[in-house]
Amino acid sequence: MKVAVYYDLQDIRIEEMPEPKIGEDEILVQMKACGVCGSDLMGWYLKNRAPLVLGHEPTGIVARKGKQVDIVSLGDRVFVHHHVACMTCHYCLNGDYTLCERFHETNIEPGGFAEYFRVPAPNLRLDTLKIPENLSFEEATLIEPVGCCIRALKKCGLQYGDSVAIIGAGPTGLIHTTLAKTFGASAIIVSDLVESRLNFARKFGADRAINPKNEDLSEGVKAETDGRGVDIAVVTAPSLEAYKAGLDICRRGGKLCVFAPTTPGQYIHMSPKELFFSEIRIVPSYSTSHLETRLALDLMVSGRVNLGELISHRFKLDETAKAFEMALAGERSLKVVVLNN
Ligand SMILES: [Zn+2]
Ligand SMILES: [Zn+2]
Repeated sequence: MKVAVYYDLQDIRIEEMPEPKIGEDEILVQMKACGVCGSDLMGWYLKNRAPLVLGHEPTGIVARKGKQVDIVSLGDRVFVHHHVACMTCHYCLNGDYTLCERFHETNIEPGGFAEYFRVPAPNLRLDTLKIPENLSFEEATLIEPVGCCIRALKKCGLQYGDSVAIIGAGPTGLIHTTLAKTFGASAIIVSDLVESRLNFARKFGADRAINPKNEDLSEGVKAETDGRGVDIAVVTAPSLEAYKAGLDICRRGGKLCVFAPTTPGQYIHMSPKELFFSEIRIVPSYSTSHLETRLALDLMVSGRVNLGELISHRFKLDETAKAFEMALAGERSLKVVVLNN
């Protein structure tokens, strides 16, 4: 079968690889669509693991199944989560599923940018979801990123009527925008340095879209929140400036959500005195569990959350290198998906 092997961001090659063999409690999925994620573009994160087959936002059709498998049938349309928790360790028992030691060890083989991939038994049992006919394969690739955003907003305790600022209007920033609206935020302020993305932010539900190059973000936020600052600021841009801005626009007692990692070795200075008196809470949120993927699917199937327009570019598996190039050119693209027909 054909796979796209990542050697480096600028070096992705199409290679042949044997189709993975499956066990009695596993399935083989024919990939139909797989999203390119921001984390696929973080060179520092992948450096020590290359060469490898990336792709963790895959959907497809059940092509083979082991004898013991009874929860899916051949031909079913499925979304597969690449990581699942063990459900029995200390982290899992406390709801910290994405911190479970086994979370990273459970992985689809070889990855989503392949004609076929194997789904190990734990992933099949806990987080392989059937996709109803009214949701396309490419839209269903958004289940994983939407799940990540739902988890973050849940961790921040988003309540009906909260004011929310989202820093960075890339794909995850726009998903946060849509979700904040769906979950009843009273004011949504989005900032980005790219004008075209701000237009999308307005389309996806932002009440105010601010380009900090032209307008002072904290003044804009004050105008929307009676001078207080937002209840929740979500940082989806991996830069220190974004985090500083996020801290700056949180109200006293508000939450700053750490959603995008900066490159290693970058630090923000914080004053415990200021933090103490402001009671701003720092809420990091990494990945998504089986709980949010289901919610993401339900919200998309019901049409409560409509994200089709987020997908700006489609490439064939053979053109995975081009897909990455396009995803990197953030001024011209939003979500990029790789298709296999
Ligand atoms: Zn992702
Ligand atoms: Zn666990």
